[in-house]
Amino acid sequence: MRIGQGFDVHSFSAAGEGFTLGGVWIPYERSLEAHSDGDVLLHAVTDALLGAVGLGDIGHHFPDDDPRWKGADSSELLASTVMTAREAGWQPVNVDATVIAQAPKLACYISEMRQRTAKTLELPAEVVNIKATTSERLGFTGRGEGIAALAVILMEPAIKAQR
Ligand SMILES: [Zn+2]
Repeated sequence: MRIGQGFDVHSFSAAGEGFTLGGVWIPYERSLEAHSDGDVLLHAVTDALLGAVGLGDIGHHFPDDDPRWKGADSSELLASTVMTAREAGWQPVNVDATVIAQAPKLACYISEMRQRTAKTLELPAEVVNIKATTSERLGFTGRGEGIAALAVILMEPAIKAQR
């Protein structure tokens, strides 16, 4: 087995219409600043996956100065990373992730985020846990300046590699 952890942060723009989190569009009065779609949760999961397999980080695989990834769908980046991990002989077992945001309230989106993220990882939703918390108004997340996400992933040898 292999384990990996990931962490990501994106700042809110002054104005906007919403942002994508865990592959789900969340309407809000601000957007997240990013080269890609700014899906902070999927970026943390992608980094955890790359970490578990020992393949560096998301910035190495999808550089933010590369026009190919401008406005990129982070679900596609994660799906591509799952494929890279499989080629390296590893597949995901389960994920546990935490989103830290003072606002907006995320509770009603968790179930859909979980299902979308699980689908991208080719896993059943029950092994992809997503939690949301605030930082009790402390720090940059508490002041509503941005959103942070943490993820841990467990990997096992891919079926292909077991033959
Ligand atoms: Zn990111």
